[in-house]
Order: sequence, then structure tokens, then C-alpha cells
Amino acid sequence: MSRDRLTVVVAAYNEADSLPLLHPRILAALEALDGVDGRVLYVDDGSRDDTWRVLGGFAHDPRVALLRLSRNFGKEAALTAGLDRIDDGAALILDADGQDPPELIGAFVEQWRAGFDDVHGTRLEREGEGWLKRSTAHAFYRVIGRLSKTPIPADTGDFRLLSPRALAALRQLRERHRFMKGLFGWVGFNRTSIAYHRGSRVAGASKFDFWRLWNFALEGITSFSTAPLRLAMYLGLMTAAVAFAFGAWVVVKAMLWGDPVAGYPTMMSVILFLGGVQLIALGLIGEYLGRLYEESKQRPIYLIDEWLPATGVC
Ligand code: UDP
Ligand code: MG
Repeated sequence: MSRDRLTVVVAAYNEADSLPLLHPRILAALEALDGVDGRVLYVDDGSRDDTWRVLGGFAHDPRVALLRLSRNFGKEAALTAGLDRIDDGAALILDADGQDPPELIGAFVEQWRAGFDDVHGTRLEREGEGWLKRSTAHAFYRVIGRLSKTPIPADTGDFRLLSPRALAALRQLRERHRFMKGLFGWVGFNRTSIAYHRGSRVAGASKFDFWRLWNFALEGITSFSTAPLRLAMYLGLMTAAVAFAFGAWVVVKAMLWGDPVAGYPTMMSVILFLGGVQLIALGLIGEYLGRLYEESKQRPIYLIDEWLPATGVC
């Protein structure tokens, strides 16, 4: 009987310091698996440090595959590139910084064996991250949970195992703006979560500063919900109703009591208010239009510089 295969996919961007610490842990976890042929695929997302050289040092192992993108495309594109290379078995996504403990791989595989297609890790707490990041992350998951019709589990990162059929389904989604948490949710199938303690990075610094996280949040909301557009419409309707009522009142007032020139403050506030509402609505439409434009160009999601598949011969 042929053994099931599991490929661990790790996207790495400037992770030369953490990879040497992580790699032995992944290999140990793969060796501990029972009846599963474990592989690991590293995707170098255009790192500018020694990451590619460090990865080269792992390549003698027949279980290791290496992929290098032509530049930094971002984590979501790097993961997509990795998942696209897996032609057999299940995939497990892991961060390169040790925040997702490889020691849990066995528990993920157990759930997969029990028939689940999407096993995701849910963070119990986030060590080594400030209260601001924790509270904004918390708020983000609540907002997107309310706005999006696609189920997106809260406090769940990309630490996840996908069965072969879930993986095949995910690979059909070729959109350029890839909000992975949402894409996983869209795929569906049998899902379960594993709670875990998310520790601090083993080395290096986080690649996501606030500006990047803010854009990431925008990405998530605009990719998985058109609620902001609807909100803009309601806001527009409401202000229009108030504006009409006020207009009628001005006319009636002028007819009943004449029209002495007055009301500069009222006029200014009305103009500014209407202008503001219009600009907000336009900006919102612009957000969606920009994304439409990006999609319409049909560019590839990533470009590959080098691909060294696992030889698999021990
Ligand atoms: N990453 C990547 N490309 C990028 C940014 C990040 O492949 O452009 C990888 C990074 O190497 C790490 C993972 O994505 O393996 C998560 O990044 P990080 O730990 O910086 O994010 P955080 O845990 O702080 O949210
Ligand atoms: Mg991290």
C-alpha cells in the first residue's frame, strides 16, 4: 500500500536566522509521523538576506524541496506558489519563525486521518506581541466575521492542514488579491480547529508593520464583503433624505416669512457635510474599482526563479 504524503509548506522572507532553528524541529516532527511520507517545501519569497543560501544547506535531504520567487511577492503569493507545486497528498502551512510549533504536526495529521479536510490552528494567546496588535487583530476578526458571508474563523492564522481535495479546490481560486484566511473559508468541507499557544518568534523581526497590517485588513474586507458599498449607499440615502427635507424647509420658510439674506453657517455646514459624504462614498468605490483593475490585468500571481523538487529517494 502506498503511503499518504504530507508536504509542509514554509514561506520565508528574510528568515536566515530562524530557519536553522526551525528545520530540525520540522524534520523531527515528520519522522514521528506514523504511516505518512513527510516532505517539506520552502518558498523563498525574494529574501534579501542569506535565506536562500541557508535553504541550500538543507537541500541534500531527499525530503526537502526549494522554491525561489523572482522577487518579494508577499506571504500569500509565496504560499500559493508552494501549494501549486504539491501534486500529491495533503499540505500543511507553517510560518518560518517558529510561532507555529512544528511539534503539533502530528496532531494535525491525526485530525486529517479522522476525516477532516481543513484542520486549522486557533491561537489561545499571542505572546511577544503588544496589546495594540492583539486588540486590533481581535477587532479585525470580529469585523470581518460580521461583514463577510464566508465563514472565517477568528484568531486563526495560516497554520493549517489541507486534505488533497481541499488543496485541489483552493488551487482553483486564482484571484490576484489573495486573502488566504478567506479563501480557506470559502473552500469549506469538513473543518476542525486545534487550539495552541502561539509563542514569540525564535529569531528575527516581524515582517508585518502596522501599515502592512492595515492594508491586509482592507484586503480582507474588500475581497470578502461588499458591505462597505452597501453602507455607502445607505449613508447616501440618509443624507439625501435629510437634504431634501432641509431644502423643502428652506423653500417653505422663504415663502412664509420672506427671504432675508442669512444662513451662511447653515450653507457652509451643508456643503461641507454633503461634500464629505460624497468623497467617502467615492473613495470606497475607488477601493473596489482598483481591485477590479488589478484582477482585469490577469497577471500571474508570482514568478519563479528557481525550483528544486524533492528527490524523495532515501
Ligand atoms: N513572509 C513571507 N513574505 C513576506 C512577509 C512574510 O513569506 O513578504 C513570511 C515570513 O517569513 C513568515 C510568515 O510569512 O514565515 C509570517 O511572517 P511574520 O512572522 O513576519 O508575521 P507575524 O507572525 O508577525 O504576523
Ligand atoms: Mg510571525
